[in-house]
Amino acid sequence: MCDGTQFDVVIDLQEHPLVNSLIRKADLNKKEPMFPLVVKRCRKCSLVQLVEIIDSEEIYRNVDYLFFSSDMPTLSDYFKGFANDIQKRFIKSKNDLVVEIGSNDGVMLNHFKNKARILGVDPSTNVVLRAVKRGIPTMSEFFTGRLGGLIAKEWGTAKVVMGSNCIAHLNNLRDLLEGVRALLAPDGVFIVEANYWGGMVKNTNYSLIYHDHFSYFSLKVWQDFAKKYGLRVFDAVVTPAQGGSLRIFMDRRKRPVTKRLKALEATEKKTKLNTLETGHRYRDNVWNVAKKLRKTLEDLKKGGAKLAGYGAAAKGFTILRCSGIDGKFLDYFVDDSPAKQGWYTPIDHIPIISRKEAEKRLPDYFVILAPNYAKVIVEKEKKFHKAGGRFVVPIGNIDIL
Ligand SMILES: [Zn+2]
Repeated sequence: MCDGTQFDVVIDLQEHPLVNSLIRKADLNKKEPMFPLVVKRCRKCSLVQLVEIIDSEEIYRNVDYLFFSSDMPTLSDYFKGFANDIQKRFIKSKNDLVVEIGSNDGVMLNHFKNKARILGVDPSTNVVLRAVKRGIPTMSEFFTGRLGGLIAKEWGTAKVVMGSNCIAHLNNLRDLLEGVRALLAPDGVFIVEANYWGGMVKNTNYSLIYHDHFSYFSLKVWQDFAKKYGLRVFDAVVTPAQGGSLRIFMDRRKRPVTKRLKALEATEKKTKLNTLETGHRYRDNVWNVAKKLRKTLEDLKKGGAKLAGYGAAAKGFTILRCSGIDGKFLDYFVDDSPAKQGWYTPIDHIPIISRKEAEKRLPDYFVILAPNYAKVIVEKEKKFHKAGGRFVVPIGNIDIL
């Protein structure tokens, strides 16, 4: 977010594979690359971030990106509510343009169909193909300063430019804002939703740290950053998505600042969220929780329990590696996304199967490795739960449900 060159280490999670690159059976013998995962804090702007990053082309182009937003039922409902809010507050005419950065398979833009003009931008070719099939115009590109200008020239300026759960994946945030500045209509709104550093600290959640999340945002860093591009944050709220996301609204000083924004600003100040001390307290808490998880699973194993993973999500893999949970602990992973079934997890090569297949060999405990979906999963698995099956929630207090 700035030109700072001095950083302090917040937490060093050591070496990890790229989490979204699941392995096909035929590739199990190939050597898998590992990369360091070190979270640092900029001394100048206080943004918490990965400084040594992996080339985005490697993450999005050279592997099939296996996350289809529409495969997650709760996500689909969540975006519907989000889209309705935007529609009501900021869209005045069917001719208004809504541009979404990182639009994935169109799970969000779909809700604006026939209500506004829509355009998606996403670098993952395979998810873009699905969006286009659904009738959502989408470009297979990285959003850049240049692209923002080109879209404005051809489509006109946008009433809404937004990006959910993708801004943290961008390395060049300043170029992003150049693009937004070029594309946004004078009374337009730029909306960002991203994982919230405040939520990570509060819940000792480290599952969000992986190689394609470059930044861990606070409200304050966005307030400072937006100013440099003639924008002002006028509204902000923490949502339950991804275990605590920050949603912020920016414009060119057209709208009044909301109460909830002021409240969040005050909370960040009071909790000293943007300091290195807070980062180090977070680090100590993370290692304690990781240790505790390993001890819990070791004890269960010693008692003869069978364990399996639930949800082969990127977030879970960070937890597994940090706590040293490998293939010896988990017999398999269940995942509802058909795109992941039949594949293997990186490094540990734990097979990923459907819930139906798991029925034939149910474990005593499911370790929920999509911790932000813990509630949904337990609700869905009432039958398993009633029959004596248990769940391990691997973050926070390591609850057994
Ligand atoms: Zn900085």
